[in-house]
Amino acid sequence: MSSASDATWRERYGETLMNTFGSPQLVLSHGSGVYVWDVEGNRYLDMLGGIATNCLGYAHPDLVEAVSAQAGRLMHASNFFATPPQIRAAMRVSAALFSAGEAPEGTRVFFTNSGTEANETALKIVRKHAGPQRPRILALTHAFHGRTTGALALTWKEPYRAPFAPLMPGIEFIEPTVSALEAAWGDDVGGIFIEPIQGEAGVRAIDADFIAAARALTTRTGALLVADEVQTGIGRTGRWMAHHAWRDADGKPIVPDVVTLAKAVGGGFPVGACVGIGPAGAILTPGTHGTTFGGNALAGAAVDATLSIIERDRLVDNARIQGENLRRALRDIEPDLITEVRGEGLLIGIDIATDAPAVVTKLREGGIIANATGPATLRLAPPLIITEDDWRPVPAAIRDAVHAVRTDTTSA
Ligand SMILES: *Cc1c(COP(=O)(O)O)cnc(C)c1O
Repeated sequence: MSSASDATWRERYGETLMNTFGSPQLVLSHGSGVYVWDVEGNRYLDMLGGIATNCLGYAHPDLVEAVSAQAGRLMHASNFFATPPQIRAAMRVSAALFSAGEAPEGTRVFFTNSGTEANETALKIVRKHAGPQRPRILALTHAFHGRTTGALALTWKEPYRAPFAPLMPGIEFIEPTVSALEAAWGDDVGGIFIEPIQGEAGVRAIDADFIAAARALTTRTGALLVADEVQTGIGRTGRWMAHHAWRDADGKPIVPDVVTLAKAVGGGFPVGACVGIGPAGAILTPGTHGTTFGGNALAGAAVDATLSIIERDRLVDNARIQGENLRRALRDIEPDLITEVRGEGLLIGIDIATDAPAVVTKLREGGIIANATGPATLRLAPPLIITEDDWRPVPAAIRDAVHAVRTDTTSA
């Protein structure tokens, strides 16, 4: 079966897989470093990294070794039992969150299989802490928190939500402005969910004054501040966590109560985490939450290896440096083609002066994988191992693709 052609695989895909993702752009075979190959043998530079997930690129030898060795020893045990990889993974996650010092007393990790489940866990923490007196939960316009029904209730896009109404009640969307926050706030608010940078919305950072106001209000009324770092965490933004950049008016770090992680935390292995910081680590008690697979030994080995490799190879610094240089190169492109470049580290949003999905197709035909988050916005989130030699062709390729698509559409 593996020698079948691209067309054959597409036909089989259409006949067997539920049509939730539309037709696949490519049928992929294998990868190495920042490159991935399709089943016809064509090579692509992956500037999307499995959507901010393949932080170590493809087939990183140390991650392959760690996961393979664990698979041969113990994959799964059920949560009646503990395993050393699960415990090592929790220690690593806590160390990444508190890379600058000690974790607050009480900080605890719950492992899941995905980002949406990490947010479901955070929702249960918020609800249980809030009780019936504080039924309201705030989320932001343009927010994306996942596709299961609780996380979907926190997700802004109407077409994602509408077919599944009624969703969980009590959630309200506000613009990320201090005035909207103050207008919505009350003692009946149990918590607020914030992506430090909204990735699915086209890489849009939430303003520092909004974060500071959200922290001040949640602290004053005893509500919980949840940072969804599923996309922005694990070195992506040139810091271990994007919220490490949060500061109050006095310049003191702002620490959320709950942080959710997934995507890059297992280097491509399906695993997520919900971290309760300080007292929030003790809100879920025996019997109030659970999972079969979450944090099993194999997932734990993937997390332990991924985070240790990021630390050993200084990939957080690399993300910051490569991101700065790549954004600078993108900003050198004619402003009538690229109208804005946003982002931190290796999470980059690019507004372009033509149809973004058509540019993504053009780039892919030229051997580069990127993604469109909207009609005129590209997103790049390449592996954190990327070097300048790897990405050097990208700015010119984007310029040429934007130019070509614009010429095609104006002459059509
Ligand atoms: C991807 C993403 C999720 C959902 O994660 P899944 O693993 O797809 O369930 C949630 N929040 C944010 C910010 C994301 O980027």
